[in-house]
Amino acid sequence: MVTISTLPGTRDILPEEIGYWQYVEATAAKILGRAMYREIRSPIFENTSLFERGIGEATDVVSKEMYTFPDRSDRLVTLRPEGTAGVARAYLQNNLHSLGGVQRLWYSGPMFRYERPQAGRQRQFHQIGLELIGARDPRADVEVIALATDVLKFLGLKQLKLNINSIGDKNDRNLYREALINYFLSHKEDLDIDSQNRLLKNPLRILDSKNEKTKEINKNAPNILHFLGKESQKHFDEVQQLLTDLNINYQINPCLVRGLDYYTHTAFEIQSDNLGTQSTVCGGGRYDHLIEELGGTSTPAVGWAIGVERLIMLLKQIECSPQHNPDVYIVSKGKKAEAIGLYLAQKLRSEELIVELDMSGSNFGKQFKRADRSKASVCIVLGEEEAENNTLQVKWLHTKEQNSMTQVDLLNHITEFKKQINKYREVSSKLI
Ligand code: ATP
Ligand code: MG
Repeated sequence: MVTISTLPGTRDILPEEIGYWQYVEATAAKILGRAMYREIRSPIFENTSLFERGIGEATDVVSKEMYTFPDRSDRLVTLRPEGTAGVARAYLQNNLHSLGGVQRLWYSGPMFRYERPQAGRQRQFHQIGLELIGARDPRADVEVIALATDVLKFLGLKQLKLNINSIGDKNDRNLYREALINYFLSHKEDLDIDSQNRLLKNPLRILDSKNEKTKEINKNAPNILHFLGKESQKHFDEVQQLLTDLNINYQINPCLVRGLDYYTHTAFEIQSDNLGTQSTVCGGGRYDHLIEELGGTSTPAVGWAIGVERLIMLLKQIECSPQHNPDVYIVSKGKKAEAIGLYLAQKLRSEELIVELDMSGSNFGKQFKRADRSKASVCIVLGEEEAENNTLQVKWLHTKEQNSMTQVDLLNHITEFKKQINKYREVSSKLI
C-alpha cells in the first residue's frame, strides 16, 4: 500500500525538536506575563469575511494565500492566515472593551498560508504574537517593540536588526499613494508583472518587492516620510525618542510598509542576517483602523507576530539546545523486579523527578546502554536478587559510582538523592 505523507509546506515537529518549542513558548509566556499580557486562544478557522475585511482584499495574504473552502453547510470559512484579525474579533464579540483601560493580549499557534514552501516559509507555520488594544500613546508602540526584543534577547539572540518606519495616518497615506502611483506609472514598463498588477490596487506593496529591477526603481520612489502630517510626524518622533531612551537600536527604513491594510503610523520588523532570504523573524505595527473596520468603535492598537520556525532556525545556529533528559533511568529484569520498577518510577515522579522506565525486557547489557544514551544522572538497577531483598542498586552514570541500598532507604532519603541529581542536571532544567 502507498504510505501517506504530510502535505507540501507542512511538517511534523518531532520529540527531538520539541524542547525548542516548549522553551520558546515558556519564555514568551514568562516575559509577556511580566508585562501583564494575558493569553488568548481564538479559533483556528473563522468566517472568510473576517480576513477579507480585517486584512484587506488587495493584500497578497487575502488575494492568493488563504486556505478558503465552503464547509458542509456552504459557509465560507478560512484557516487563519494570521492572528490579529481573530483577536480583534474576539475583543469585540466578548466586549473586552467594556473592561475599560487597555487590553494586553498574546497568542501562540499555527497559521496557514498557501505560499511556495522553502526554508523558513511553510504553509502551516506558527506565530507567537501580542496585541495592545486601546492605547494611542507612542509609549504603547515602544512597549511592544521592547517586549519583542526582550523575548529574542532572553533566548540568546543578539545580532538582530530592528527596522522602523511610519506609514502615517489615512490622510497622509492617500497623498502618498497618489504620488507613488504617478511615479510608478512613469516606470510601468520596467516593473515586474506582480508590481504592475499592484500599481493601482496596492502601490505601497511594490516597495516591498524582491524583484531586482523593481528594487532599482524603488530607490528613487517618493519617500513616505516626506508625506507625514504634523500629528504623524510627532508620533514618529516620540517613538524614536522613547526607543533611544530604552537603549534600543533601530534603523529607519522608509520602504518598510508591511503587507496588511489596517496598519497606521509605526511599522517595524526585526531581521537577522543569518536567515538567508527569509530574514524577518518578527513583524508588527500599529493598526488604528482594524477594530472600526470590524464594526467596533474607533480603537487604536499595536502588535506584532514572531515566526516561530524562523526563530528556532536561529536558536539552532547558536547551539542553544534545550533537551529533555531523564534524571533517573530504571532498568529491571524479572517479573517481580519489573513490577517494583514501575512502582518506584511513579514514586520518584511524585517527588518531581523525571524518570524513564526501561520496558524492553531485554538483557541488562542492552538496558545499560540505553541508560547511558538517555543522559540520565543516575540509573536504578533492579534484578531478581534485589527484588527478593527489597533492595536496589544506585549507579551514578557520570562517576560510575555504585552502591546498594534498600528501597525504603532511598525513599526516606529522597532529599539527599535529589540534591545529588541536581548537581548533574544540566540544560534539562531549562525546560519548564
Ligand atoms: P514575509 O515577508 O516573510 O512573507 P510577512 O510580511 O508575510 O512575511 P507577517 O504577516 O508580518 O509576515 O508575519 C509575521 C512573521 O511570521 C514573519 O516575520 C515571519 O517570521 C513569519 N511568517 C510569515 N509567513 C510565514 C510562512 N509562510 N512560513 C513561516 N513563517 C512565516
Ligand atoms: Mg508573506
